[in-house]
Amino acid sequence: MSIRQLPEDLINRIAAGEVVERPASVVKELVENAIDAGATRIVVTTAGGGRSLIRVEDDGAGMDRDDLVLSVERHATSKLGDDGLDNIRTLGFRGEALASIGAVAHLTVAARTENAASGLRIEVDRSRKSQVLPQAMNRGTIVTVRELFAGVPARLKFLKSDRAEAAAVADVVKRLAMANPQVHFVLDGSDRSPSNWPADGELRARVMQVMGADFAENAVPLATTRHGVVVTGLAGLPTYSRANSLSQFYFVNGRSVRDKVLLGAVRVAYADFVFRDRFPAIALFLSIDPAAVDVNVHPAKAELRFRDSGGVRGAVIRAILDALGEAGYRASSTVAEDVLGAFRAPGTESAPIPVLGAAPSGAFGATSPATAGQGRSQTASFDGLAEPSARYEAFELPPEEDSYPLGTARAQMFENFIVAQNGDALVLVDQHAAHERLVYERFKAELAGGPVASQMQLIPVVIEFPEEDCERLEDAAPTLARLGLYLERFGPRAIAVRETPALLGQSDIDGLVKDIADGLAEWDNSEALGDRLDSIIARMACHGSVRSGRVLRVDEMNALLREMERTPHSGQCIHGRPTYVELKKADLERMFGRTR
Ligand code: ADP
Ligand code: MG
Repeated sequence: MSIRQLPEDLINRIAAGEVVERPASVVKELVENAIDAGATRIVVTTAGGGRSLIRVEDDGAGMDRDDLVLSVERHATSKLGDDGLDNIRTLGFRGEALASIGAVAHLTVAARTENAASGLRIEVDRSRKSQVLPQAMNRGTIVTVRELFAGVPARLKFLKSDRAEAAAVADVVKRLAMANPQVHFVLDGSDRSPSNWPADGELRARVMQVMGADFAENAVPLATTRHGVVVTGLAGLPTYSRANSLSQFYFVNGRSVRDKVLLGAVRVAYADFVFRDRFPAIALFLSIDPAAVDVNVHPAKAELRFRDSGGVRGAVIRAILDALGEAGYRASSTVAEDVLGAFRAPGTESAPIPVLGAAPSGAFGATSPATAGQGRSQTASFDGLAEPSARYEAFELPPEEDSYPLGTARAQMFENFIVAQNGDALVLVDQHAAHERLVYERFKAELAGGPVASQMQLIPVVIEFPEEDCERLEDAAPTLARLGLYLERFGPRAIAVRETPALLGQSDIDGLVKDIADGLAEWDNSEALGDRLDSIIARMACHGSVRSGRVLRVDEMNALLREMERTPHSGQCIHGRPTYVELKKADLERMFGRTR
């Protein structure tokens, strides 16, 4: 076949393949156009998952006759000056969206400018343009797309169910709405129950509208400027993590993006607090010199390239760590809600908790603190011996201590749970999980200042291992020494432990080294050991912690609570589980049906 110049409608359909992947991408382009036109109110309507109808209506600048005709041509844009791509401040700039949509659907663009006596419209059906016709309308632009992909069976085949396409549309609108809190958004149509997000100009208010008040309550504000990058937004508490990434929102200069550098930075920042398969909720806004980022690397403009990606990464990680550090001991309030939910009778979702009628107080025997201290409790079966499982020490709450966020310790239950009371809440602490976090953070703080202090063993502890483990431990010895653990090979199948990290105290050295050997076997060469320091510290912390099952004195419990308040990230253990739950007095009253 000889070479020929392709006809225009074919060129357009090829271009459309890149820009218009599914209904949600059409919605994205149209809403971006409306924002670029200075709209203050944007109404998005879809039906049939966007296949049968997409309409985007705005009150922006509109277009006059000449612009209207040009708008549906390829490479026709009002947004690029002759100075090119280096200083893009609008969302659009490629001049391709309307032409592409017109190539694969029935497109109507209607517009009216401020001064025009009436509106005008143009229709495009698979690249065939109509004449300009009159249209009654207010100032602004209304773009209607019907029968999307009707003539492109290959595309139709790849679309998902109406419901899935409608959900993708909603996701796109959410992201655009978050990036533009100054614009009133309405999402409507037969695909869903309508959403209405009036503009109040405040980012926080918009985040609450879009992501729910739940998220805003369980997030901390970001505010850091570094390497010329301004980072703002809200970072979810680690205990408020999700099973997928739908609650992660990334914006660069007001543009919603999915960028590897940002995703990676968030993953690193949360690595200590959130399990690998969980996703922290976050709304991250970056503001950066437009010349320092290339937005022209992806047809749908979803990806971009930073000139200084290391600097951006550093700024994001710092911003998140600072914010979470300030949140300190805070754990997600949804933890308490989950606990309260567990008390509810099954199948009664929001119904009040059943009231236990006339049950005499004390009917719960051993679980009531007043009697538990006197005898065996139900957990006797755990060890069957000696210590009572609940201890209760009666003392008055000194008024000034009312103000400790985690309260004053009142009792220890099941040798692992500290029961404390602050001004208006009952606080339950998992002592092992909490202590693990404290030891971990102490380790990291010490390591930041050089090698971790160690303490000499009077007699070296010799532990036998298979030869491969000995090899691995020997190789890791220099790294472990930085953490205060000094090992030496002791014959072919044994290791001698000479010094241990001072902050672990007298712990189970045998178990600790075995655990590290297991870790080394598991990671075997997959990553440089230096990158695994955190994992090693986590294993050490686990061994240096107050095990559950240890009885604590009241002053020990209080010391633990005070240290939690001082320590960053102590609201969750190193595995991302909460270390404490706070139940408000009002919640307890509600639980017992004492609501006003
Ligand atoms: P781009 O946005 O990249 O310029 P489009 O194909 O999306 O390309 O739009 C082409 C042109 O049509 C825009 O540059 C703009 O001038 C005009 N336009 C499109 N949508 C609107 C709108 N909602 N309000 C005003 N003008 C619009
Ligand atoms: Mg555009």
